Amino acid sequence: NAPPSVREVWLATREFADRDYLAYHDETLTYAETHALTASVANWLFAQGVKPGDRVAIAMRNYPEWMIIYWACCSVGITVVGMNAWWTAEEMAYALKDSEPKVIFLDSERLARVRENPDMVAGKTLVGVRLDDYPADVTPWSDVVATGGEMPEVTVDPDSDACIFYTSGTTGFPKGAQLTHRGCVSNLYNMLYARASSALAVMYATGEVPPDPPPVPVTLINTPLFHVTANNCAAYAVTAAGGKMVLMYKWDAGEALRLIETHRIMTVSGVPVMARELINHPDFDKTDTSSLMALGGGGAQVPPDLVLKIEEKVATARPNTGYGMTETCGIITSVAADFYVDRPDSAGPAMPSYEAKCVDPDGNEVPQGETGELWVRGSSVIKGYINRPDATAETITDGWLHTGDIARIDEDGFIYIVDRKKDMVLRGGENIYCAEVEAGLYRHPAVAECSVFGLPDERLGEEVAAAIVAKPGETLSEDAIREHCLTIMAKHKVPRFIWILDEALPRNASGKFLKRDLKEQLLQQLAQASS
Ligand code: ATP
Ligand code: MG
Repeated sequence: NAPPSVREVWLATREFADRDYLAYHDETLTYAETHALTASVANWLFAQGVKPGDRVAIAMRNYPEWMIIYWACCSVGITVVGMNAWWTAEEMAYALKDSEPKVIFLDSERLARVRENPDMVAGKTLVGVRLDDYPADVTPWSDVVATGGEMPEVTVDPDSDACIFYTSGTTGFPKGAQLTHRGCVSNLYNMLYARASSALAVMYATGEVPPDPPPVPVTLINTPLFHVTANNCAAYAVTAAGGKMVLMYKWDAGEALRLIETHRIMTVSGVPVMARELINHPDFDKTDTSSLMALGGGGAQVPPDLVLKIEEKVATARPNTGYGMTETCGIITSVAADFYVDRPDSAGPAMPSYEAKCVDPDGNEVPQGETGELWVRGSSVIKGYINRPDATAETITDGWLHTGDIARIDEDGFIYIVDRKKDMVLRGGENIYCAEVEAGLYRHPAVAECSVFGLPDERLGEEVAAAIVAKPGETLSEDAIREHCLTIMAKHKVPRFIWILDEALPRNASGKFLKRDLKEQLLQQLAQASS
């Protein structure tokens, strides 16, 4: 009786045969149809000589084929390499060299990038998905799915790699994290626990007993499937419950609203800025969002005002969040509904499979309630980063994962993520947490987006800077922002440099703001202005 692997998670969904599973534009696949396709893919890969333990890369947007290839590989012990669809040819070449997949599944845009530097795919089998035409060296997807057959019998080692996912690259170059089968399954258990505890939060507050059986979920997949948020969290939870996944090619708030209405979507996650865009969208009030039960997300700091706005603005949906990272195959904490509204600045308690502590720079636990770097230990911490023994040894010691996030833990075990270690501004010996300044800026009613970071300063070491985008139809001035800040935060935290930008802030594939890029752009502007 081996512990379950992702194979068992997928095979267990055979019982949902006739239910709708993957929806993309006007296409829908049932569970039974998807199972037949995953068996075909697995048999085709074996026929190409790909063996359990080998790697296969997926380099495409959120098409139904993404999940088909993923479940197929996981079911037979082939490791999936999730390639970031936003990568340039150069970044793709790096990741392919790093991960050495035998086969690469590509859509047209990714194929075009490969053509810029054909060396990167030398000796590899290419499969084209949704191409307009198929060049001689690219196997059409239709050949793969024509293979047929039953899912091969394979015993999958729970401690082998289910997939390699690269970190988001928010603070530096992405690293290839090894997510084991055990880690992915354990994160699924945590997700199911999180759902149950959110129902309990409602029951405690209102006395409303959750429906039994729970409704079949319909989930919007609005972030990329090559990251844990969409994949290990949203997709796993909806699949294990026999629900429907509605796939978005890319994020667009107006399109998301249309999908919510058409498919009667119940849960939407993603990075917090997406929830904000939804509720700020001019079509929001015209859209039937009565199917929504949960709205929120994680992956980045959630400004507390957003939690309260969701609660106020969306009649049926309760706010939720999860704090997690690629290095934990998904969530470390989660919190929802009344538990969250009571503590909108918290990311919730650690999941049952996790221990958490905050430590000082020497790695010693700080007294309860004080801030320090958050270290966590539990069943879904990754094995390490491929080809990066140095980074692995620095990040995981004695099973403890050094999250790189600064946090505090209250007496009830609720964790408050204060900032990323790398984002903190050190101004004249004083630590200033960008996330705190951002939360303050978001309390200004005309602020749509903001990002706070440090800029070098000769006298103080660093100075606080803020880039701000106003809501459509609103105007903002530096003075108005400064005045607002002075009323709600200590003077030394008030941004010295304020930029009001006309365009949305730069984001990475996950939708997280790219502070690094923003900072560079603004430093250049400053240098030009002074020369
Ligand atoms: P890289 O590691 O390449 O710089 P990244 O850290 O953004 O990129 P991910 O693994 O996708 O890559 O993101 C994990 C990080 O996201 C966490 O370490 C934390 O900083 C942030 N994060 C995730 N969820 C939350 C949350 N609910 N609240 C605050 N921050 C969060
Ligand atoms: Mg990280």
